[in-house]
Amino acid sequence: MWAVETNPRLRRLSLRNDAETVVFALNASRGNKAYDRLASLHRDLRKLRAETAESARVRRIKEINRRLRQYVFYPCVGLEAGYEGRFGVIALSDSGFFPAPANQLAVTEADAALSLARLNAMGDLEKVRLCEVCRERWLAASHSNYRFCSKECRERFEQSKPDYHQRKARNQREYRENLKRKQAAEDAALSKGRKSR
Ligand SMILES: [Zn+2]
Repeated sequence: MWAVETNPRLRRLSLRNDAETVVFALNASRGNKAYDRLASLHRDLRKLRAETAESARVRRIKEINRRLRQYVFYPCVGLEAGYEGRFGVIALSDSGFFPAPANQLAVTEADAALSLARLNAMGDLEKVRLCEVCRERWLAASHSNYRFCSKECRERFEQSKPDYHQRKARNQREYRENLKRKQAAEDAALSKGRKSR
C-alpha cells in the first residue's frame, strides 16, 4: 500500500526537499559513478514521461526498476547520544555517504534515487535542472523560470545578451537621473523648511 500526498501545502514542502536532495547529491558527486547513475536515472525518468507507446513505457519501467533495486532501505533507530528515541529509514549501499557541509544532512545516492522516484510520481522531475549557463551545476527550481545555479551564472547570461552594454548604460543613466531628482527634491524641502522658520 502506498499513497501520494495531495495537500498542496504538504506537497510543496516535500517537493522542495526531494528536489534539493537530488540537486545536492548531483552537485556533490560530479565525476563519480554515483553521478552517472543518478543523472541517467533522471534522464530515463524524463524519457519515460515523454513515452507514448504502452509497450515502450513498460520496457522502460522494467529497466528503471531493475536499476532501482540496487538501493536498499531499512527502518532504523538512532545511535547518537541524545538521539536514541529517533528512528527513520536509512539507505544501505556500497556507494556510502556524500560529504556534507556542517549543518547540512548527509545524502546518500540511494536517498537521491528515492527522491527522484518521488518527484516522478508527483510529475515534478522538471524541478531538478542543469544550469543553462555552466551546464555543470544543478539547481532545484521552485519556479518554472529558474534556470541558473548561481548569481554568477545569471550575470554571465545577462552579459551574453547582445544589448547588454546599451541596457547597462541606460540603467546607469536612469540611476543618475533619479539620484539628481531626489537630491533636488530634498534641497527644495530643506529651503522651504528654512523659509517657514
Ligand atoms: Zn551555473
